[in-house]
Amino acid sequence: MPGESCGVCGGDGRIANSFSGSTATCPGCHGTGRRSEDTGFRDVTKTKPSHFRQSNKAEVVEKQTGPTSFEGIQLANEVRDCPTLSSGTKAKLTLEIAEHESTHGKCTQTFVKKVRKQLRGPTADK
Ligand SMILES: [Zn+2]
Repeated sequence: MPGESCGVCGGDGRIANSFSGSTATCPGCHGTGRRSEDTGFRDVTKTKPSHFRQSNKAEVVEKQTGPTSFEGIQLANEVRDCPTLSSGTKAKLTLEIAEHESTHGKCTQTFVKKVRKQLRGPTADK
């Protein structure tokens, strides 16, 4: 953003040298005190090496509320399409599926049955 203060020096164009106590021209803005797109400093938190991006991706998958296995996704779709459940219950069940998956590595048939029972509602077994 033009006019924004440099994130390296805070806008004064100089950075203190902790060893000598003197100041030096800021490497981020080259003394202008303004943030510049072409210094490479601005996006230092966003532009990461590929291995960082991969780990970020894995993190995102882990934090996702939705399941990742075939059975889990199918079950989550059934939950989503269930007309008798509230959206809050659906979110809770979807989260349960994802948690079950992360614990067991997949959706066990017992768990699938348990969830489907809730989809059908308490009167379904009668
Ligand atoms: Zn600077």
